[in-house]
Amino acid sequence: MSYNISVIPGDGIGPEVIEEAIRVLNTIGEKYNHEFLYAKLLAGGCAIDEYDEALPAETLVTCEASDAVLLGAVGGPKWDTLPAEKRPEQALLGLRKGLGLFANLRPAILFEALKDACPLKPEIIGDGLDISVVRELTGGIYFGEKGEKDTEFGKGAYDVKMYAEGEVKRIAKVAFEMAMKREKKLTSVDKANILRSSILWRRVVEEVAKDYPEVELNHMYVDNAAMQLVRDPNQFDVIVTGNMFGDILSDEASMITGSIGMLPSASLGENNFGMYEPIHGSAPDIAGQNLANPIATIMSVAMMLKYTLGLTKESDDIEKAVETVLNNGYRTGDIMSDGMKSVGTVEMGQLIIDEIKK
Ligand code: NAD
Repeated sequence: MSYNISVIPGDGIGPEVIEEAIRVLNTIGEKYNHEFLYAKLLAGGCAIDEYDEALPAETLVTCEASDAVLLGAVGGPKWDTLPAEKRPEQALLGLRKGLGLFANLRPAILFEALKDACPLKPEIIGDGLDISVVRELTGGIYFGEKGEKDTEFGKGAYDVKMYAEGEVKRIAKVAFEMAMKREKKLTSVDKANILRSSILWRRVVEEVAKDYPEVELNHMYVDNAAMQLVRDPNQFDVIVTGNMFGDILSDEASMITGSIGMLPSASLGENNFGMYEPIHGSAPDIAGQNLANPIATIMSVAMMLKYTLGLTKESDDIEKAVETVLNNGYRTGDIMSDGMKSVGTVEMGQLIIDEIKK
């Protein structure tokens, strides 16, 4: 099979980590006889330098026509003085909106070899951690009606949180599909004891659940979910929630794993189309020095194979290779600890490639 991948390296460490992820993807292509065709595109600060805009029309059009998008990171001090609407990060919002990416998937994976990086006690995390947060990305309170009005306490301001059935249905489907590919357990997080929008959310999730009888569904209030994530994170497999609750819970979940250089993410639209990127930024402090951890981007490629291209075996191959390299004691600077072997960006990429080839 042949696949068209739009690649946006971006700024700072973006190009370095993308380079390793592409080398890994090519290794998978050779091993399993797939052809990956790449369109390298500009977005972020480098696009501002070249075209005076963070998201050139050509980038968006090419992404739309491809099977999936792989992004490094955008931004950096060079562009920090620009007005908000001109900054590199606008490219991310433009891509999400332009590509209709309504579902944000963030797995929080803690490999056993990196247990020391987790701020929770060893008895809480057991053998490691593997949670996936599915966050609704284009609705809810961040996109609801906003305004100001006079009140008896003086000037007030408001943001409306509304969800429509169709919005809940499509994000719930994504979450159930994900649960089907994992441990078949789904927790829907809401505040249905207080919010009308959450009552609707819960009803629609229940309706969608009828199409997935194999998935064990439970509901949890958001305050309890925030507490349970640090009390007993292993009770979760997939979590689905709205935009604002998801914003907070996905950060909490990734913090538990203790390392920003390890975590991938996906933003999905209709028909499993998706944009895949590490959760970290462009790390200008270490850019161009062969210091960046490429694993978050390599794991983003693994997600792309699984969730958009449906190549589960190939995806598992990458995850296993990463785990083996970590078990063998190799570490980039950000995850280095006593007695481990320190390697750079390129060496880490090569070790993972060598493992896939075995
Ligand atoms: P950051 O994630 O870039 O860096 C935070 C810290 O983590 C830094 O010390 C950095 O060196 C380290 N770090 C990050 N990724 C690493 C990796 N792969 N390996 C090793 N160490 C790593 O966040 P920041 O410093 O707040 O932001 C830097 C720039 O990135 C800003 O311009 C910001 O707007 C942008 N940003 C972009 C995205 C994105 O493109 N999705 C996300 C967040 C921040």
